[in-house]
Amino acid sequence: MRTAILDSLRTTVLLANRHACCICQRIDVQIHHIDGNNSNNDQTNLAVLCLPHHDKATAPPSLTARLRPSEISAYKQSWEAECAAESIRLARSRTAFFMVDYKNAERIRQLFVQLTPSEYFHAYALLKDQFRQEDGLRKEQGFDISLEPNTSWNYVTQELLEYVRKGNVHPPCFRECKTHPLDPLYPRGFFSSGEPAFAYYDVWCQIMTRAILTARGSYDIEDLMRVRDISRLSLAGKIISFSGSLLGKVAFPDQYAEKPVSSTTLMVKGRQQTWRAELQLKTHYIYSVTATGSLSDGRSNGLLVMRGIERVQERARTRTVEFSCTPLITGCGGGGPLGIPRESRTN
Ligand SMILES: [Zn+2]
Repeated sequence: MRTAILDSLRTTVLLANRHACCICQRIDVQIHHIDGNNSNNDQTNLAVLCLPHHDKATAPPSLTARLRPSEISAYKQSWEAECAAESIRLARSRTAFFMVDYKNAERIRQLFVQLTPSEYFHAYALLKDQFRQEDGLRKEQGFDISLEPNTSWNYVTQELLEYVRKGNVHPPCFRECKTHPLDPLYPRGFFSSGEPAFAYYDVWCQIMTRAILTARGSYDIEDLMRVRDISRLSLAGKIISFSGSLLGKVAFPDQYAEKPVSSTTLMVKGRQQTWRAELQLKTHYIYSVTATGSLSDGRSNGLLVMRGIERVQERARTRTVEFSCTPLITGCGGGGPLGIPRESRTN
């Protein structure tokens, strides 16, 4: 007897396969029970297949063209691993190790403290390699002569990475600084060495974010756009990476007293769909005046935590999906010149 697959599980399986057949990557797909038991809805038993491959999977065992369950399982595992690596690669290229314009330090800290000791260690080992590699790329591309505070792989960033290993959400080097009136953990001013603490806190937020991504992964908003029935979408609390445009005027960092929060609209457009969210950006989490300018208008990349779909509007051939979310970090530049090599797999 068939037991229906829960919508939330269906969405998870489809997104883990980027909506594509695990054998040929065609995108008109259905979910197949690998062992032939329609009530076994264990995630390991659910494969995403296109119609021709589904036919081959359900053909009589006597046919030589029939796909065996063990073959389908192997395809599923391999394709899901590739999708996970691609998701992390995309999210990483959107949160690369240089200045981000906006960081939601409060929310990043909340997520960071939820990691386990083994996740901290795993993230530490992986990030160390990634940051070294990105430092090389940045030097190749001339980023180290930037006027912005130095975010290269130096003694401060190396020390900060040690606090990922220890799972320490507020490294001691920030404690000597004055704190922000709206946030007792947000440092202002300079270290005794003269280095700007606020700039390194920006870097620290990126390091924490990358640790969270390493442990928990992310979905891509492009994949969400392929979901047919948005009303069934259940992804509350998942990290989503995006590339889109921001529309709206964001207050300068020194206006936080009069205007603690700026509102701007995020738009991500596909061929037939537009995804739209109102981002509430805390003014004191914006890094600089130039960051304010780029957040006020322009293309942006980043990560957000999706809370849910609020409204879906169909009009002619287009559909607008409004969703609620909490921004984690965003940066301007539409991808930026710092390309993350495809072959650098993160798992
Ligand atoms: Zn196929």
